[in-house]
Order: sequence, then C-alpha cells, then structure tokens
Amino acid sequence: MQDTILLAAEAIKKSKNLISLTGAGISVESGIPDFRSAGGLWEKYDPAIYASIETFENHPEKAWDMIFEMVEVTADADANPAHKALAELEAMGYLKAVITQNIDNLHQEGGSKEVIEYHGNASRLTCQKCKSSYAAEDFDISTREIPRCKKCSRILKPDVVFFGEMIPRDALLQCDNLAQFTDAVIVVGTSALVYPAASIPYEAKERGATIIEFNIEKTGLTRQITDIFIEGPAGTTLPQVVEALKH
Ligand code: NAD
Ligand code: ZN
Repeated sequence: MQDTILLAAEAIKKSKNLISLTGAGISVESGIPDFRSAGGLWEKYDPAIYASIETFENHPEKAWDMIFEMVEVTADADANPAHKALAELEAMGYLKAVITQNIDNLHQEGGSKEVIEYHGNASRLTCQKCKSSYAAEDFDISTREIPRCKKCSRILKPDVVFFGEMIPRDALLQCDNLAQFTDAVIVVGTSALVYPAASIPYEAKERGATIIEFNIEKTGLTRQITDIFIEGPAGTTLPQVVEALKH
C-alpha cells in the first residue's frame, strides 16, 4: 500500500472534527465530465457563458440548451466507490459532513447523510416569480420542451448556483460552523479555483487543520497548503484509505 494512504489513514484516525470538500472530479468516474474533461459537456458549452446568471436571465432558452444535457448526464449517473467511501467514513464515525460543490446528488445516492450543497442541486427546479418548486423528474426533458411553472408559466430555473449568484445562506452558515472547529479536511477532485468554496481549505489550514488531498494531478492547493497528497483516481484511492482504517 502507498505510504500516503497510510499517512492519510493515520491523520483521519487522529482527527476529531473531520470534514470533506468535494468537486467535480469525484463524479468523473460516474461519467459526469468535470470542467477539464475532453469531449465533455463543457467543451460544447463554455461554463463562463452558459452557466452564468446573466445568460439565464436574458436568454433562458440558451441556458436551457446546456441545462437539458446537464440534467440528463446527472440523472443517468450512479454513485461511484469514492462517494461510497466518504459515506463509509461517515458511518464509521470519522467524517462529520461533506461539503460539495457538485449538483449531481451523488453523495446522497452513495449513502452520505450530512451533505452540504454549496452550489445547489440540479434535481429540483424553482419558479423565480412565484417560488413554486418542482422535481426535475416531473418534466419529460427528452422532449426538449423548456419546463415552465404550472402556476404562472414562467420558465423554471434549476436550483443550482450560477456564476454571478450568491451561495445559499443555509449552506454558508453550516459551512462556517463546521469550518470553525475542523482539524482535518479531505479535499477530493477540485481544482479549488471557484470561490468562495475554495477558501474553505485555506481557512481551515490557517486554523491549523491537516489538509488531505485526493486528485489525479497537483493543484494550487497541493503547492500551497496540502499536507498529504494522494495522487490517483479517487474511486481507487479513497476506498484504499477506508480499508487501511479497518486494520
Ligand atoms: P474542476 O472541473 O475545476 O476540477 C476538477 C478536479 O478534479 C481537477 O483538479 C481534476 O484534476 C480532478 N479530477 C478529475 N478526475 C478525477 C478523479 N477521478 N479523481 C480525483 N480527482 C479527479 O471542478 P471543481 O473544482 O469542482 O469546479 C467546478 C465547478 O463546476 C464547481 O463549482 C461545480 O459546482 C461545477 N461542476 C459540477 C459538476 C457535478 O455536479 N458533477 C460537474 C462539472 C462542474
Ligand atoms: Zn411560478
């Protein structure tokens, strides 16, 4: 077993308030492309344009071109061994909560109970006018007919945080509470470039937390604050850490 796996297991065992921050990379092995994956959704739709609130407000039909594909990709995906490993760490009593930047619902599907959705969840749609809320699966998106509010007929918006929007207040408050006391953070599959989510590990490190990072390549975090870097696909490496903790 890799030395870093054993080091991570030791750090997790020692921790009293362990949390995790996850990004798009943890869901790549479930078939959902991250912002870097070649040939994926984001090569066709520049997120800076299609995932901005300005585009949604001014050209909702353009934003929905991208949303249709995003909802389809996420609806078909299943939790992978990395999501399940985090759920197991929680069940074993090590992990307090997962803070995710993902909108794909896969942590919940993988069995995690405490999940803070920093950027919302694509499985719900809300009317911006009358605030009615719907499950995305109530609409047949394969028809490519843009879902409209059943009460006021306004085009619906997925409950995800678009670029230019605020992070949900509840998520921010919950994160602040957790981050205040955390002594170790497992960071998985994030380039840590999208703020304010990226500030979570930096602030934890300032308070003395150990940063354990899982990624297929080095990031800005690795160079600046990571204590233990575990290189490789998280679907392989995270279950190895769980195994190490059992011995
Ligand atoms: P990112 O695309 O900027 O970075 C992904 C990171 O994951 C990269 O550092 C990459 O090296 C790493 N990675 C790729 N495959 C991996 C694997 N198998 N194991 C471990 N690491 C792997 O993602 P981000 O930092 O989360 O920022 C993107 C933003 O876009 C987020 O805000 C997120 O909300 C959104 N997004 C979400 C999804 C989703 O819900 N699944 C998908 C794409 C984008
Ligand atoms: Zn409405």
